[in-house]
Amino acid sequence: MGLLRNSLCAMALFAASAGNAATLLEPTLHLKPQGVEGGGRVALTLDACGGKTDTRILSALVDNRIPATIFVTGIWLKRNAEAVEIMRAHPDLFELENHGGRHVPAVDTPRKIFGIRSAGSPDAVQAEVESGAAALAGAGGPAAKWFRGATAEYSPSAIAMIRRLGFKIAGFSLNGDGGSLLGAKETARRIGAAKDGDVIIAHINQPTHAAGEGVVQGLLALKQKGMTFVRLDDAEGVGNDGTTD
Ligand SMILES: [Zn+2]
Repeated sequence: MGLLRNSLCAMALFAASAGNAATLLEPTLHLKPQGVEGGGRVALTLDACGGKTDTRILSALVDNRIPATIFVTGIWLKRNAEAVEIMRAHPDLFELENHGGRHVPAVDTPRKIFGIRSAGSPDAVQAEVESGAAALAGAGGPAAKWFRGATAEYSPSAIAMIRRLGFKIAGFSLNGDGGSLLGAKETARRIGAAKDGDVIIAHINQPTHAAGEGVVQGLLALKQKGMTFVRLDDAEGVGNDGTTD
């Protein structure tokens, strides 16, 4: 009986945490289809969460003139002045947007997401969004219009708040590098398979990971196929969960 009760307790706990998890949203974002001839259009978004700069990716973008939207944190901006300078020197290629001040998930209740502690309160979500925007403004260039929270997961009330603060929220439709943890081959395969209208997410802050090599290979394959790359500001992105409308 004790055993049964214990397992019921475990089930109840599991159900409770599953119910809790279900309140988190991972919104998608697509580009509006153009309905024209050709290879199609994709948006490449690269997160710079913290750490360093993957110069394999940055050089490939500059050399091959591939535009990208870079989501930077305040932490990353502070430590990567050289990369920021290169991006600012190519305003036709790079659009810098808001990935938060300290890379804490925009979730307004205390919990962990992929091992990262959430902001935990509405005030802390607001501070994360506003400090990210302030860091970007401090680094020069146009004001940020898009926000993507750490882990790209949100509580519904946090989404509403971020929208009230004036930002669109950048979901994605194609996870290119699995949080920069995939191998080069799988990353190249995923990105190379992007379809018209896809918004690709990958990372530009992990220079020692194999995934970065795959990002470059996948992008070059798309370019070869005649795919056009656009930044989020240059195309109409349609997100779900109230993230863009
Ligand atoms: Zn991140």
